[in-house]
Amino acid sequence: MKIKRQKQAKKTISFYKFNFNFRQPFQILMDGTFCQAALKNKIQIKEQMPKYLMGEIQLCTTNCALKELETLGKQLYGAKLILQRFQVRKCPHLKSPVPASECLLSMLGETNPHHYFIATQDRAVTAGLKKIPGVPLLYIILNTIVLDKPSQESLDHVQAVQLGELVSPAQQQSIRSLKEEQGIPLKDGERRGKKRKRKQSNPNPLSCLKKKKKGVPTPPLKKTEPGEKKKRSRHKKRKTVEGDNTTAPAVSL
Ligand SMILES: [Zn+2]
Repeated sequence: MKIKRQKQAKKTISFYKFNFNFRQPFQILMDGTFCQAALKNKIQIKEQMPKYLMGEIQLCTTNCALKELETLGKQLYGAKLILQRFQVRKCPHLKSPVPASECLLSMLGETNPHHYFIATQDRAVTAGLKKIPGVPLLYIILNTIVLDKPSQESLDHVQAVQLGELVSPAQQQSIRSLKEEQGIPLKDGERRGKKRKRKQSNPNPLSCLKKKKKGVPTPPLKKTEPGEKKKRSRHKKRKTVEGDNTTAPAVSL
C-alpha cells in the first residue's frame, strides 16, 4: 500500500511540475484543521511531508488561520502550537481577519501564482480550490497524508493548453524570446516570398543563352570549299557575338 501511495504521489507531483511550473521548495499552505488532524493521528508534519512529496518543502500559513484557532479555544491549543511554528504569509486581511477557509482561497487568486499546495481538512476550502486550476490538495485520512489526484478543473485546463485554446503567459514569453534568439521574423510569409523571388531571377539568363545556341546551326549547312580555316573562324565568332551571323555568309560568297 505504501509503495502504491508513493507512486501515485510521484505521478501527481510531476503533473504539477510539468503543467503548472511547480518547483522545490514546495510551498505548503495549511490551516488549523490539518494541524489538528495531524496531532490526532500522531503525524509529524515537518518530518513526513518532505518524505511523502520527495523534495524540499516550505510550511506556511496565514494570520487569519492562526487567529481562527485562537478564537476556537482550548480544544485546539495543540493545533495552534503546531501551526504557529510555520512561516506566516501576508494576506490582505491584516486589519480585519476573515475565516481561515476564506483566507486560504483568497491566497490562491484565480491562477495560484505562488504555486501553493493547500493542506486542509476543511470541506469549504477543498470545494473552493477545486474550481481553480493547478492547486494540489493535501489531507489526512487513515493516519496518513494523502496528495489528492488533480482536479477536473486542472485536467481541463491542461487539455485546453495542449489543444492550443489557451497559452499561459509564461509560454507566450518563452515563445517570443526563442523567436528573437533565432532571428525569426513574426510573419513567416515574408521570408518565403523573398526566397521565391530569388529562385525566379536565376534561371532566366540561362534559358536565354540556350535559345541563342539553337538558332546558330542553320548557316553551316551551306558548304564552302575555300578552306577549313574560314569555317573555324565562323564558329568562334558565332559563339561570342550574335551580330556576326550576318557577316559570316558574306565571307563564304
Ligand atoms: Zn487572511
